Amino acid sequence: CGIVGYVGPRPALDVIVSGLRRLEYRGYDSTGVALVVDGAMAVAKKQGKLANLDKELSNHPLPASSTGIGHTRWATHGPPSDENAHPHVSADHRVAVVHNGIIENFAELRAELLTDGYEFASETDTEVVTHLVARELAAGADLPEAVRRACRRLEGAFTLVIADGADPERVVGARRNSPLVVGRGDGESFLASDVAAFIEHTREAVELGQDQVVTITRDAIDVTDFDGAPAPTTDYHVDWDA
Ligand code: GLU
Repeated sequence: CGIVGYVGPRPALDVIVSGLRRLEYRGYDSTGVALVVDGAMAVAKKQGKLANLDKELSNHPLPASSTGIGHTRWATHGPPSDENAHPHVSADHRVAVVHNGIIENFAELRAELLTDGYEFASETDTEVVTHLVARELAAGADLPEAVRRACRRLEGAFTLVIADGADPERVVGARRNSPLVVGRGDGESFLASDVAAFIEHTREAVELGQDQVVTITRDAIDVTDFDGAPAPTTDYHVDWDA
């Protein structure tokens, strides 16, 4: 339902949680965050309102990080629960995925991944993406290429934002028939399902086209199609008041 990703000099958790709060008006049943900490993704996720996640984070604080992703979920596959909340992480906690939309061919992909030895921790359609990306990383792809290869397997509508604990300086997003916008800050970059999530930090935005993959670092925004060819983007200035 709502997505935020961040790479920059600030505490990522604060940026992500305040971004999710700006997206609360859309409605949701669960929330979660994942931060890059010491080569892996540290995760907190809870069914219910953001207040439940706040409580979880004060009971079990996450270490400081300047790279991370967050999500508010509106369940479509699997009931609202802590396990089904996003982000969905790989068994080794290297990869974390948040997703808006529906992966139509998830049952077929799940069967394939189970045969390949991947275990599932949720009932969501989303979790197939985690294992597809983890499998491509294990095969030697870097994060943007792993996401492109995974996207080529997916049917349906999706906004995806993905972080790799082994690649702490960037976050990758992808979209098909579902919104994803990029915020260009001063030495920091944002990904979100809606500009409202980052408008308090920057009004310089980049709109993505269909079937594109974007890689953000503190200072750069790189966009390709699902095959890796550089793709055109449109920069714009957000001039409305949020
Ligand atoms: N289909 C996914 C799920 O049920 C994502 C739902 C959403 O867009 O929040 O977890």
